[in-house]
Amino acid sequence: MYLKRLRDFARTSDEMPLPFHTWSAVRWMLDLDPHGQPLGELVDLAVPDEPARRKGKRELVPKLQRSGIGPQPLLACDNLQNALGWTTPPSQASPTPVKDTERARRCHQAFTDLVTAWAEDHPQDLAAQALRAFLTTGEAQLLTKPGKYAASDLVMFRVDGTPVHRSTTAAQYWTQVAQARKSSGGTGVCLVCGEPGTLVDTFPRQVTAGLIPAIGHDPDSRSKNRPQPSAVTLASMNKPALGYELTPQLAHAPICGTCAEWSVAALDHLLRSRDHTRRIGDTALTWWLLDTPPGTTAPIELLFDPDDAAIDSLLAELPPDDPITARPGPRHLVKTVGTMLDSPKQGREPGRVDTGIFCAAAVSANKTRLILRDWIDIPLPAAKAAIATWFAQHAVIDPWTGRIERFSLHRLLLALGRWDPRTKTYLPLGDPGARRPLSAQRDLLAAALRTTPLPHSLAFHLVQRLRADKRIDNPRLALLRLLTTRTLKPGKTTPMALDDTSDDTAYLAGRLFAVLESLQYDASTLDGKKKLNTTLTDRYLTAASTSPARVMPDLLRGAQAHLKKLHSRHRDATATAYTKLRDELCGRLNPMPLSLDLTQQCSWFNGYADQRNHRFATIAARKRATQDGPDDGDTELETASSPTTDN
Ligand SMILES: [Zn+2]
Repeated sequence: MYLKRLRDFARTSDEMPLPFHTWSAVRWMLDLDPHGQPLGELVDLAVPDEPARRKGKRELVPKLQRSGIGPQPLLACDNLQNALGWTTPPSQASPTPVKDTERARRCHQAFTDLVTAWAEDHPQDLAAQALRAFLTTGEAQLLTKPGKYAASDLVMFRVDGTPVHRSTTAAQYWTQVAQARKSSGGTGVCLVCGEPGTLVDTFPRQVTAGLIPAIGHDPDSRSKNRPQPSAVTLASMNKPALGYELTPQLAHAPICGTCAEWSVAALDHLLRSRDHTRRIGDTALTWWLLDTPPGTTAPIELLFDPDDAAIDSLLAELPPDDPITARPGPRHLVKTVGTMLDSPKQGREPGRVDTGIFCAAAVSANKTRLILRDWIDIPLPAAKAAIATWFAQHAVIDPWTGRIERFSLHRLLLALGRWDPRTKTYLPLGDPGARRPLSAQRDLLAAALRTTPLPHSLAFHLVQRLRADKRIDNPRLALLRLLTTRTLKPGKTTPMALDDTSDDTAYLAGRLFAVLESLQYDASTLDGKKKLNTTLTDRYLTAASTSPARVMPDLLRGAQAHLKKLHSRHRDATATAYTKLRDELCGRLNPMPLSLDLTQQCSWFNGYADQRNHRFATIAARKRATQDGPDDGDTELETASSPTTDN
């Protein structure tokens, strides 16, 4: 199916190169007159100072995977060995081995024969006639060799300033030749397009080396043991043991020449384009759209570069029926179908129906074979809804600015790694010390595109990191919200800010811990002290978030001293507010939970973060109200402005 979608892309996209062609660096060029006489010498197209032209000029040239040992010339543009019969000059004084010279001669003869056959088929093609004349009248042997060259350098010919391989009949003739060369000789119904056609034995081309990462290796890792990139084949059954009923090649997977060529060409093309591809862990993710007007962007790009305006407009398009799954409910569907059926009768426009399709494939390489790890093709509106839902379910309100924050996949992924308190950053991707699961990025992406739950293991990992790093910030809160809504409490909406109506005991216990933490902070910084040696969080976060009943009674007793201190410094109002909040939460928390499971631990951290953010938002609002001027470096705000627990 994904081959069919790739073929459809190749057939309809104007971005695609011609079939059996590829973009390559052409090193040499020779101008010919219409009678095949060279106009001057070989021209070197390489520009050493320009990175883009260091190896020659980028040209769309004929391309076919060579297999076996016989000469397999390309039409009108090939390497120096085939096009001119040259061998690479030996580095020492020793002469070129006879077998190399002999091979070059045979290859050149095959190239000449191919051009001759083409010229005879198309007598009106002047470029073909000129090249044939050049090759058959001995002119090619008279050409002066440049000082330095390799037999594998590509060379192209021009007549009247136009490359011969791009003449009017060349592409079509070359397609026939290429198809015939790759054909198994058999005909049958192609599994991809469902049409009868000439079937192939092997795929006519491979995906260029380096475009698909090797499975099981973190591409961000700087380790020296990384596997060498190699060209990748979509399917290869070159040994009987690999094929069904011990039959080698594609005998049991009939694919016609056009489908085989186009699908690989499309995949190769997509994997090269930043608009269609990203590296996701040890896979390359590539996506494309079908049946969409030109200029339509794939909604998946927002996952990598969230754009608030674009996300807001996607959210506005969401059908209102089911706010959690964002799938149009039966009412919405019936209404849409109804307007379409009625439109001819009533003469009214049915409204535009988006028939676009969004496709994506995640691929890895196992040596030279391709592994299709995940694959999706859904209607474009469903893809848009999935992306909109993803953002709706993880957005958090930044307490200091009051703005809604949405995160790219990259930032969410970073927040799953270890926090470095010295540099105040997350350890980079690929750093083994960051302890990020290799599959995390794929898990996040798959969940975003399919609107599916995230794995429980990710919740477990996040809670572990929260405790080890003692840090909860906006991206981590976003992850908590996603995990809660999708995995731990599916079907329930998680509010974006403090939920005072929630009587979930774990949530309340988290809130209470945050209250005691800020009480300790307020009481201890009364004397102008900016930093506490050990905070409540440093010592009790782990215990309080797993078995609150074990530590909370002690912490509540300890809080009495902090309240007393506030009273003694005439902060009665603050002390009273704390007392009231503490008593209210304690009253609702009867009894204090003994131990918390994974879901409850996530609720605990949610409550803790919400309560803290609520306090930060109050401080920020108070600050905005009292002064609109620049920040005067107020202690409280400054400490709290990095909403971390590592102060
Ligand atoms: Zn086909």
